[in-house]
Amino acid sequence: MNEPSQEGREAADLSCGCVVMKFGGTSVEDAAAIRRLCQLVARPSAQPRVVVVSALARVTDQLMSAGEAAAAGHLDSAREMLQVVHQRHQNVGGAVVRGELTRLFGEFDAEFTALDSLLRRIASDKALLPCAQDSLLGAGESLSSKLIHSALRSSGVNASLVDARECIVTDAAHTRATPLWDETNQRLQSVVLPLLESGQVPVMGGFVGATRDGIPTTLGRGGSDFSASIVAAGLHASRIEIWTDVDGILTTDPNLCPEARRVARMSFDEAADLAYFGARVLHPATLAPAMRGNIPVWVLNSRNPECPGTEIVAFCEPVDGVKAITTKRGVAIVDVEPVRWFAPELLREVFDVFERHEHSLDLLSASRGSLALLVSSVSGLPAIAEELKGMANVRWENHKALVCLVGEQVRRRPEIASQAFRAIGDIEVRMICQGASERSISFLVEESRAEEAVQRLHRAFFSNPEPAMERRASLAMCQAEWAWHGAD
Ligand code: ASP
Ligand code: MG
Repeated sequence: MNEPSQEGREAADLSCGCVVMKFGGTSVEDAAAIRRLCQLVARPSAQPRVVVVSALARVTDQLMSAGEAAAAGHLDSAREMLQVVHQRHQNVGGAVVRGELTRLFGEFDAEFTALDSLLRRIASDKALLPCAQDSLLGAGESLSSKLIHSALRSSGVNASLVDARECIVTDAAHTRATPLWDETNQRLQSVVLPLLESGQVPVMGGFVGATRDGIPTTLGRGGSDFSASIVAAGLHASRIEIWTDVDGILTTDPNLCPEARRVARMSFDEAADLAYFGARVLHPATLAPAMRGNIPVWVLNSRNPECPGTEIVAFCEPVDGVKAITTKRGVAIVDVEPVRWFAPELLREVFDVFERHEHSLDLLSASRGSLALLVSSVSGLPAIAEELKGMANVRWENHKALVCLVGEQVRRRPEIASQAFRAIGDIEVRMICQGASERSISFLVEESRAEEAVQRLHRAFFSNPEPAMERRASLAMCQAEWAWHGAD
């Protein structure tokens, strides 16, 4: 492999903005994936690039398991798990890095020595505290960014390593931190911009940040997409590329429905609704900074880079009909029945109690006699029911799934709802939400029927489009193909 070239220096023209390229776990999982990444980053481009990487596929989970094992008193097996992760990074590094291997392995050693002492601390605490968890999990991105930086340099890219913890400044809400925007933007401008101006390709880990005092934090699982969008907004990038292992956003989860197909184009709002209703296409927070900066987001396949992927933009000519179908499993329905009558104070009290217990609510539907809430976890419910005792009786049922149809025009076309319910007429529907969002209809079914519901709906809306719909779809720029992809 060559020495770092000056190609980036000649190409750096910041006047039309930079491109933030984010590579998910599967796009950096092994030597072959990293070689593909290097080729993509090295492609001639008129715009400077910033590379944001996830941890190698499965590493975050492995680090988490090691932390949990240490907390449970199994320090030896925790250390063995760490050893496996160390070995994997060395193997992949050995295959893709030339010339800088000794330095890279030295950096890995230092990282794993620190992780080893962290595991000991977790073992002596007998608990995996949120602050320790952030230091532990964030190491995955720290390791991958070092590896990718060296691999890029080995393939001739003038890459420079940026510690994301020095740029992404967050609050101290460990495991789900939020950026402090002004400080983050300032740091990005002062640390990353000069690198771009001098023709270098900054490489940084996603998912991680640090408080003002430098204490490591993370942005929540799957947060590397969010990092890419934070970086793009701070640098006024002209485009965000989310490189993953499927052809873009699909009409539904291909694991449930193999006929799922790519959606060519969609709006930020549609993509945000999809993320909210369970599509794992993008971390739900990702779109907000991109939307604020009006930066288009592309979801692309690093294994099939010639595929045009999905473009997510502020405005997309609406095509009548449904663009995608999602399903969120593991949902529980909570019935809150007032002991006496339904007073507005009860609503306030219910929200307060859920907030005090940091229990998020997904959907709500109210009637004169009761309140139905959807939640994704039942763990805090007994305590919540106890607090509301005297005011309301709280009961819940789990093993439900929320099925959601998303598309700009969904609300304005009542026939969509009737077509949907015709398709799943014999499946019991517990709760229907339509109208709260411009672009979605969602309803609750038994988890065991969710797959069938999605398959039937997909058939109804995508396999046999009515002739008129087909014509409209083919005329419009944004075709009714929509998107989902596996998590990485
Ligand atoms: N590695 C982190 C996770 O698995 C963040 C990410 O990949 O987006 O959650
Ligand atoms: Mg992801």
